[in-house]
Amino acid sequence: MRVLIAGGGIGGLTTALCLRDAGIEAVVYESASALRELGVGINLLPHAVRELSALGIEPALASAAIETQALAYYTRHGRPIWQEPRGRAAGYRWPQFSIHRGRLLTILARAVQERLGASSIRTGHCLADFEQDDDGVTARFVDPASGQAVGSDRGDVLVGADGIHSRVRGVLYPAEGPPRFSGITMWRGITEQEAFLDGRTMIIAGNWHIRVVAYPISQEAAARGRSLINWVAEIRDESRTEWQWEDWDRLGNKGDFVPAFRTWRFDWLDVPRLLRGSDTVFEFPMCDRDPLERWSFGRVTLLGDAAHPMYPSGSNGAAQAVLDARAFTRALRSQPGVADALRAYQAARLAPTSEVVLLNREFAAERILRLVDERCPPDCDDVFDYVARDEVEGLAQRYRRIAGFDLSAVNDPSS
Ligand SMILES: Cc1cc2nc3c(=O)[nH]c(=O)nc-3n(C[C@H](O)[C@H](O)[C@H](O)COP(=O)(O)OP(=O)(O)OC[C@H]3O[C@@H](n4cnc5c(N)ncnc54)[C@H](O)[C@@H]3O)c2cc1C
Repeated sequence: MRVLIAGGGIGGLTTALCLRDAGIEAVVYESASALRELGVGINLLPHAVRELSALGIEPALASAAIETQALAYYTRHGRPIWQEPRGRAAGYRWPQFSIHRGRLLTILARAVQERLGASSIRTGHCLADFEQDDDGVTARFVDPASGQAVGSDRGDVLVGADGIHSRVRGVLYPAEGPPRFSGITMWRGITEQEAFLDGRTMIIAGNWHIRVVAYPISQEAAARGRSLINWVAEIRDESRTEWQWEDWDRLGNKGDFVPAFRTWRFDWLDVPRLLRGSDTVFEFPMCDRDPLERWSFGRVTLLGDAAHPMYPSGSNGAAQAVLDARAFTRALRSQPGVADALRAYQAARLAPTSEVVLLNREFAAERILRLVDERCPPDCDDVFDYVARDEVEGLAQRYRRIAGFDLSAVNDPSS
């Protein structure tokens, strides 16, 4: 059995490691010309860390990442709303890690190269098209810069782990069109400064219209007594319904968003200073796609953001890609034929991930911010005078269950 994986992101690399663990050959084709430590931060929730831990990756993650202890919500005036323990502090057997995305990708890529061989990741190979027959699938690749053909490969399965702009998905669904825009623009950056709160807490402050997310991501900075803080500033503009290709992952301009946060000077964090402190700012339109009815077509399937791109609410997209990788590998091992296995993988993962996509559209994981906005006067001292504690607990619990990180399910060794 030989699996071709298009895309060397978190989903594609984790899939290669899972397959190797199951004794299945895999090769990763990545369109970027080299593996570089780009990007900002990401949170890995315990259900994803559990899978990465089973692959032997946890020590490398622990030495690079911050083990997150808590998630805390604040109003846009910096008043506390709600705080919940996270990772091991919440009773999970696995931690929640906040880590630089580039560092995470390096850790995964090194493990792939060590275990599957140096040529198991082929950079500069952008999947252009593919065709399948009874005996296999042939994928053709081009150089992303020149568009010139750089070769083809043949395997038993092709996995499209090529992200929200997936070419594999585009071939399977040629009429789908571009991702769906939320009206929210995100600016992302990383600032090194002194730690805020306990140096291990992720915060989300704001409301439905404007918010900031921040968390520390570097063990190395913490060891120096500093904090490398990943932040995302988000502003909703209901009048903006479309995004342009040139808006995707471009360099952002601080003047476009820092003024909107100018009064957000809390006694525990100076938000405008944090936002100004990043050397580089990236700007993205927040997008997703409608859930599909089908991912698997014979020998070809979709995984990660290619299958279920979602709004980054609930810190869950990459975790879902990791869960896909495990389910895909299990299906290949347990089913007699490739098409059966790909159908079984789809049956296991399509419905739950579709539910997360739709929940994230409502920002269900951060629903508390909306409740406070709707019900509490701006000067309220205790939000629980206006919002029932049980309601908040219930909403958080429901999100955890659907997204697959319910405490008892994650800790259950048989799940
Ligand atoms: C602001 C923001 C914050 C987020 N925070 C979190 C978080 O805290 N926790 C979390 O779990 N998730 C988070 N996510 C979501 C997470 O980033 C994604 O869900 C995750 O990266 C998906 O991984 P993937 O491998 O499926 O896709 P990607 O990471 O997009 O990787 C796809 C790869 O395929 C390559 N590629 C593209 N086209 C081709 C082609 N034709 N041929 C070959 N290669 C190709 C790309 O270069 C890329 O390397 C966040 C997302 C955003 C936008």
